[in-house]
Amino acid sequence: MTQEAKCPCGETTLSIDGEPIGQFFCHCDDCQAVAGAAYLPISLYPRDAVKITAGEPVQWTYKTNPRTRCKTCGTVMFSEPPGAPFIAVKGNLLPEGQFKPSSHVMCQYAVRPVVDDLPHFKGFPAAFGGSDEMMDW
Ligand SMILES: [Zn+2]
Ligand SMILES: [Zn+2]
Repeated sequence: MTQEAKCPCGETTLSIDGEPIGQFFCHCDDCQAVAGAAYLPISLYPRDAVKITAGEPVQWTYKTNPRTRCKTCGTVMFSEPPGAPFIAVKGNLLPEGQFKPSSHVMCQYAVRPVVDDLPHFKGFPAAFGGSDEMMDW
């Protein structure tokens, strides 16, 4: 399966091959700082599964993760955590219905507890190099 992720202005397009490795909401301090949001929808893929097929997005780093954004509308399209074998695409850019989060991660940084029926990991799940430690909310 190949799908497209587009920024809101339509200039920058990503082509994504195959299924995501994982989908979740990230509460890390880096996501909060660059987005001005409490947490972000993230869809993870192997690095070679994601290609830029239209637009000339620019990359910058504020804290830790290099992030790539549309040159025209400024929307962050994806980030590439240093040393990680995956690329983190913003879940809200996927075609409708394709973002199906299974957890919240990096909840140790959460602005506020989010109470829902998904698991709330303190850091990352063990499957992504974390400890599987959970928050008590
Ligand atoms: Zn994050
Ligand atoms: Zn754009």
